[in-house]
Amino acid sequence: MKKRALVCGAGIGGLSAGLALARIGWDVTVFERDEELRTAGAGLNLWPNGVRVLKELGLGPHYAAISASLRTYRTFSSTGEVVAIDDVSDWPERYGAALSGVYRRDLSRMLADALGAGRLQLGRRVVAVAQDGDTVSCRFADGGSAEGDLLIGADGIHSAVRAALFGPQALSADGLVRWRGLFDLADVEVDPHAAVEVWGAGGHFGYMAIGGGRAYWFAAADGITTEPDDARAFFSRWERSSVPAIIAATDPSTIIRNEIRDLVTPLPRWSRGRITLLGDAAHPMLPGMAQGASQALEDVRILKAALAEHEDLAAALDAYERARIPWVGNVVRGSRPLFDFDGQHERVASNCNPILGRYDSIAERRSA
Ligand SMILES: Cc1cc2nc3c(=O)[nH]c(=O)nc-3n(C[C@H](O)[C@H](O)[C@H](O)COP(=O)(O)OP(=O)(O)OC[C@H]3O[C@@H](n4cnc5c(N)ncnc54)[C@H](O)[C@@H]3O)c2cc1C
Repeated sequence: MKKRALVCGAGIGGLSAGLALARIGWDVTVFERDEELRTAGAGLNLWPNGVRVLKELGLGPHYAAISASLRTYRTFSSTGEVVAIDDVSDWPERYGAALSGVYRRDLSRMLADALGAGRLQLGRRVVAVAQDGDTVSCRFADGGSAEGDLLIGADGIHSAVRAALFGPQALSADGLVRWRGLFDLADVEVDPHAAVEVWGAGGHFGYMAIGGGRAYWFAAADGITTEPDDARAFFSRWERSSVPAIIAATDPSTIIRNEIRDLVTPLPRWSRGRITLLGDAAHPMLPGMAQGASQALEDVRILKAALAEHEDLAAALDAYERARIPWVGNVVRGSRPLFDFDGQHERVASNCNPILGRYDSIAERRSA
C-alpha cells in the first residue's frame, strides 16, 4: 500500500513538497487554509539552487516559459555611480540554471497544476496535529480530519505545526519592512535581462523582470515602515538612478508592505516522530539574499532524497535534518547583514556587490 503524506500549507514549499513526494510514489494531499492559492506577493527572485529543484521535478521547460532569465547583475549607488556589472550569463553552465525572476502567482499556479487538483484541498485550515507510533493526523477548522504516515508542516512563518511540535517561538522584532511593487517593462527604460540593485545611504532598492513583460521592485529603508507614500517619496529622491522612473511607472495598488522577520533562536530540530517542517515554517529568513523560496525548494530536494533512500521514517527525517539545518543556518545568518544599509553602502563604495559576493559561499552547493 502507498505511504500517505499530509502537507499543511500550499505555498511554494508545500506545493513542491507534495509534487516531489508524489513523484516517488507517495499518496499526497496538500491542505491550504485559504480558499484560493496565494495571489499576493509580487515577484520572486529564484536562484539556480532553487531552479535546479524545479528542473529535477520535470518542470524546467514550464518554468522557462513563465519566468525571466537574467544575464547581468548590475549594482549602482543611489547617486548614479556604476558599482559593478557582473556577467551571470554563464550561470546555466556554471550553476545548472540561470538567475531568474518570476511572478509568484505564476509559480504557484505552475506547481499546483503539476501537483494536480485531486491532491490539493483549499479552505482547509489545520488547527491541530497528533500522532502515535503508526499514524499521524491533523484536524481542520471545518471539523474534518485526515490521517497519514507523515505530516509536513509547510505552513509558513507563523506555522501552527511548528508551534504544536516545539511550542511558541519568538520572531525577531527589529521592525524591518520590505516594500514591493510591479511595473511594466514597456513603461521604463531598463535592461530587461538584468537584475539591478541600487544602494544608498539608509536604503536599498532592487528590480528585475519576472516574465510576461512585467517586472517587480523590492525596497527597504531605515524608518520607512508604515506608509507606502513615504516609501514612494523616499525612493523618488534617488534622482540620479532609474529608481524614480520605476516608482512613477508603478501602479500604487500593486505596492505591498511586509514585515520581515526570522527566528530569534533557530530551531535545533525540525522533526518529532512522524511530523517535520519545511520552508519558512522551519527557517524563516530575512529576504536579504532572496533565498527563502530557493531554500524551501532545497528542503524539498533533500527530504525527497531521504525518503527515497530510507525505508525507516525516523532515519529519513534524521538525514533530512542533518543535511539541511546547518546549511540553511548559514543562509539565515548571511541574510541579516544586508539590512544594515549604511554598512552595505560602504561596501558598495568599494565596488563590491554585497549579494553576489555571498552567493557562492553561502547559498550555492552543487554537490548536495
Ligand atoms: C518581502 C519578502 C520578499 C521575499 N523575496 C524573496 C525572493 O525574492 N526570493 C525568494 O526565494 N524568497 C523570497 N522571500 C521568501 C519567500 O517568499 C518564502 O521564503 C517562501 O515563499 C517560503 O515558502 P513556504 O511555502 O515555506 O511558506 P509560505 O509561502 O508562507 O506558504 C505557507 C502556506 O501555508 C498556508 N497556511 C498557513 N497556516 C496554515 C494552516 N494552519 N493550515 C493550512 N495552511 C496554512 C498559507 O496560507 C500559505 O499558503 C521573500 C519574503 C518576503 C517576506
